Amino acid sequence: MADSDIESKYDVMYSCMRCGTEVTNTELNRLPEIKCICGFRVFLKMRSNIVKTIKAI
Ligand SMILES: [Zn+2]
Repeated sequence: MADSDIESKYDVMYSCMRCGTEVTNTELNRLPEIKCICGFRVFLKMRSNIVKTIKAI
């Protein structure tokens, strides 16, 4: 199977909820399991350059 780079044009950033390490969607897909280097499995989905701030009223 070819190890193509199809996903790279659709990169989404993820941030580990425990240690804050940022990984891309592509990097996560290359891993055998979705897991941070610290062992935590919960990631915050982020989009580069798009930060939404929701103000609670
Ligand atoms: Zn982590």
